Amino acid sequence: MRCDPSAKTSQPVPPASPTPVAVCPPPLASKPGRPSASKCPCCGRRGLRPTREPGRALRYRNMCLTLPTGLPVPTCRLCRHQVLTFEAVPELESTLASLFRAELMHRASVEITHLSKFFSQRRLEREIDLSQGYLCRLRSGDGVPSVALVCLLALLASEPSRLEELRRYWALPLEPLPSSSSRRRGS
Ligand SMILES: [Zn+2]
Repeated sequence: MRCDPSAKTSQPVPPASPTPVAVCPPPLASKPGRPSASKCPCCGRRGLRPTREPGRALRYRNMCLTLPTGLPVPTCRLCRHQVLTFEAVPELESTLASLFRAELMHRASVEITHLSKFFSQRRLEREIDLSQGYLCRLRSGDGVPSVALVCLLALLASEPSRLEELRRYWALPLEPLPSSSSRRRGS
């Protein structure tokens, strides 16, 4: 059957039927129960489907985080490309933010527990100017520490003797800057 939507007639013709005539073939029907695969931006083939799998790590802020196995991510079954964007995975942003916070809390707790073998928490709080009881709260998982604090706790935990170095650092005035800095500024 020929269908010609551009019938040239000057007379307005009322629609003969409420059913529109299909000019283009309808898109291929997908298999029932399974969404059709979409085009992969990497290999160009139709292999992209929402996929749940373990071991998907990605960098977020200063960390490398592993996504939960149950999070569906469009993944190409042909070339293994993953579309890890906030548009393609609506839950990605909140998932990463929550993993990030949990990691900060966990690491702070581990490092504080380790440092407690060397110093009292109160001494540590005094030396790095934290309010009394803050480390105790962090150790029990109450509150989200900053990345900078966890960095400091991790460095101190690997070499606890450096707390004494910090104490001396703050006790003494800084050495005057070497004169070469003014020369560099002038160049
Ligand atoms: Zn692909």
